[in-house]
Amino acid sequence: MFNKILVANRGEIALRVIRAAREMGIQSVAVHSTADSDAMHVRMADESVCIGPPSSAQSYLSIPSIIAACEITGAEAIHPGYGFLSENAGFVQVIEDHGLTFIGPTAEHIRVMGDKITAKETMRKLGVPCVPGSEGGVATLEEAKRLGEEIGYPVIIKATAGGGGKGMKVAASAAEMERAFQTARAEGKSNFGNDEVYIEKYLTTPRHIEIQVFGDGKGRAVHLGERDCSLQRRHQKVFEEAPGPAISEEERARIGKTCADAMADINYIGAGTIEFLYENGEFYFIEMNTRLQVEHPVTEGIFGVDLVREQIQVASGMPMSFQQEDLKINGHAIEVRINAEKLPNFRPCPGRITQYHAPGGLGVRMDSALYDGYSIPPYYDSLIGKLIVHGRNRPEALARLGRALGELIVDGVDTTVPLFHALLREEDIQTGNYNIHWLEHWLETNLGDG
Ligand code: ADP
Repeated sequence: MFNKILVANRGEIALRVIRAAREMGIQSVAVHSTADSDAMHVRMADESVCIGPPSSAQSYLSIPSIIAACEITGAEAIHPGYGFLSENAGFVQVIEDHGLTFIGPTAEHIRVMGDKITAKETMRKLGVPCVPGSEGGVATLEEAKRLGEEIGYPVIIKATAGGGGKGMKVAASAAEMERAFQTARAEGKSNFGNDEVYIEKYLTTPRHIEIQVFGDGKGRAVHLGERDCSLQRRHQKVFEEAPGPAISEEERARIGKTCADAMADINYIGAGTIEFLYENGEFYFIEMNTRLQVEHPVTEGIFGVDLVREQIQVASGMPMSFQQEDLKINGHAIEVRINAEKLPNFRPCPGRITQYHAPGGLGVRMDSALYDGYSIPPYYDSLIGKLIVHGRNRPEALARLGRALGELIVDGVDTTVPLFHALLREEDIQTGNYNIHWLEHWLETNLGDG
């Protein structure tokens, strides 16, 4: 086992990793930008190293600075959290070249899954069902139009390098193809430096269902069921739950096994998420994330496992501490993402927290790096906390969520908390009757956000 690990991230996810390390008796090193000198992850880690100015490009994304911080502190392994360098194959290569360990999958796994076209091809070969669409990249508008007719409108044009909801455009008819095709390419180019795009059938009423997988890198892999992350704004998740209200035990076992077998086949190591759209009883693969997800706590809640501990364990060469038959679902868990944003437009709202009080009690988990007097810097993501509740069943989890939201105090900045209070009053949320478009419609009707 490692003696010391470095956490190449900030905010709540850096705390999440530091906490797991501490419980395992491992020393932790935080890295931070000058804007984060007073951040909670710096205070909570055993050691910290300033790695650059506020801009992420010069700090949290600076590979030489992070490697130097490892050398200075003697950290043996790096946990990337999510975002930043977590899915950067080049980073993993550099880490290995320095004789350090990346707590995550291999550079090759990241490379294959990071390119959505290659990921789809790989998954199809491994027997995972995919959304109908182009075989590979689509180079010309003529080809795109021909495929549009063949697949049938509406279709979605996606940048192969896309992520975070960027580089995706829907064409409802042939007339919209030119604009959608050019915009998706331009967004791919400007955001990810790659203008290659592909085309998929656009599903009109699917749910977003993702399967948590975990591998030991030696041909063993398990699944930890699904999360329903259909409540999204601009393709970004805001509310996640497990198990999925629409998924039966048989469906879970079937798709879960398909995913676990696929991961065993490629000797996948660590945590991963295979994302699907689910419509009329069918699963369609859309992409794989080769890292810990923001919403991993709902899975931890229902399975009673610590995914970060497992990641560290397998990265150090030890076996996973569970097998498929050990993994039994207990109750229901829901997570809401609390952002420092002002409704109705979700405009980022950085600033000083004048008062912070976290909810508590049975089945309540608050993952947040906030504290009284903390100033949220304007340079990074607006996620300031995740409230996760666990109950014996879905109604109990929903009631607990309402209760916990009522206890939470975040003064000084605007947050997305009022959104969740309002959502809990909706019949469809209470019954679990929603798909990936539900929230956009609701926001348009109720907040005029569109
Ligand atoms: P990103 O990598 O940007 O997160 P994804 O491929 O994971 O992109 O898709 C994000 C979201 O976009 C999905 O959860 C879904 O809401 C929507 N989406 C993606 N592909 C399709 C599709 N073929 N049909 C309908 N919606 C889609």
